[in-house]
Amino acid sequence: MTTSRPEQRAATQIEGGVRKARPDFGGAAGNLALMLGLPSATAYLYFCARFNAGHLLPGPEADLAAFARSLAPSWETALVYCGWLIFQAGLQAFAPGATLEGTPLEDGSRLRYRMNGRASLLITAVVVTVGAAAGWLPLRWIYDHFGELISVVTLFSYGFALFLLIHGRASEPTHLARGAIVDYFLGAARHPRLPPITGFDLKVFFEARPGLLGWMLVLVSFASVQIERHGTLSIAMAVVCGLQLLYVLDYFWHEPAILTTLDIQHEHFGWMLLFGDLVWVPMTYSLQAHYLIDHSPTLPIWGAALCVVLGLVGLTLFRCSNLQKHRFRSDPNPVQIWGKPAEFIETRQGNRLLVSGFWGWSRHSNYLGDWLLGLAWSLACGFGSLLPYFYPIYFAGLLIHRERRDHERCAAKYGEDWERYCRRVRWRIVPGLY
Ligand code: NDP
Repeated sequence: MTTSRPEQRAATQIEGGVRKARPDFGGAAGNLALMLGLPSATAYLYFCARFNAGHLLPGPEADLAAFARSLAPSWETALVYCGWLIFQAGLQAFAPGATLEGTPLEDGSRLRYRMNGRASLLITAVVVTVGAAAGWLPLRWIYDHFGELISVVTLFSYGFALFLLIHGRASEPTHLARGAIVDYFLGAARHPRLPPITGFDLKVFFEARPGLLGWMLVLVSFASVQIERHGTLSIAMAVVCGLQLLYVLDYFWHEPAILTTLDIQHEHFGWMLLFGDLVWVPMTYSLQAHYLIDHSPTLPIWGAALCVVLGLVGLTLFRCSNLQKHRFRSDPNPVQIWGKPAEFIETRQGNRLLVSGFWGWSRHSNYLGDWLLGLAWSLACGFGSLLPYFYPIYFAGLLIHRERRDHERCAAKYGEDWERYCRRVRWRIVPGLY
């Protein structure tokens, strides 16, 4: 049973109705370590894929000098990246799409969000396709400048997080400052907007647009380099890129579901989310495709089919569980799940906790689906190196840590009602196992 200790610990945090801040990610020292460690890890994974023959540990083929040279930032890359950000910001501001309300804030009001991801995706795809066909957007540019991109976008993240800290402290003066380092790392405002009149939501923009669409372009670039270099697109590359592109398309297809996620509702916006969105996701989640450019694992058709099936099962579980919660939380009318009225637990806080459908299987079936999809990307790369398995190993750690943070937050927020919920939905992520 998983309910006792964390709830008790969380409960002791509530004194006089005020929740005492618990140091997140190891407090200031842990935050500093992550701000140095994550960029280094991104560069190291790039080194392994490109300059170390696809191995996780440095071997005889390691070319450290070429790796170091490739990281030097250039003005060309900085200008191209600026252009990319401006293009995506323009689409976020002006592309057609519905405007929806988010979940209620603490004061009961709701922010409005422009959900024009589908149009932005389409326009980006058309511009890139036309540009590539006309020869003024060479697809391999991203591959050729990948090291520079890591440096440039990392530097941008450090700089923009400083802006977020200053802007956040000024725009949300009621925010309980947690010290400059922690506020810089985790963010000082939950919903920073710029400028206030247009309602341009910085967190929603960075969470999806430049990073997720950038990841798509990275995949297209890597696949094009494989074709150019080896004359063909391998089955493994097709499976990995196909499943990853589907993941990104799925996000844009169901864009409003982001409004009920932990990141958008509860997290502040600082270096951690910014770096994750801009650098970590596009540069490390594309690792399998990077590895596959010059590695062709023997992947029989039945093996490829199994990876596709596993990926689709994962994606379906991920999407359907997220949608069940999203509809339940955002539709004011009673919701049906699997043909029956949704069951839920009423809380004294006012929110309702869903216990039907996938939310009756475990408290985070969505995490399980997401992880299975990532495993499918790795399995398609065969067993010649541990490098392509970095993602599911890291992601398991992230999801377990994330679930525990969320659990403590919800235990503090819902108190005994959360304990009741945990007794009803016993498993944290994997039904019957964890
Ligand atoms: P959830 O979408 O599960 O949101 C958690 C929040 O939902 C809780 O804080 C709580 O908020 C509310 N909630 C919890 N239980 C219930 C319930 N039974 N009924 C109704 N509401 C509930 O988590 P995340 O935002 O972490 O994840 C969203 C998706 O994003 C996941 O599929 C995850 O896999 C994916 N993800 C992917 C990452 C990646 O790098 N690929 C990184 C992080 C997430 P409240 O206070 O409102 O009750």
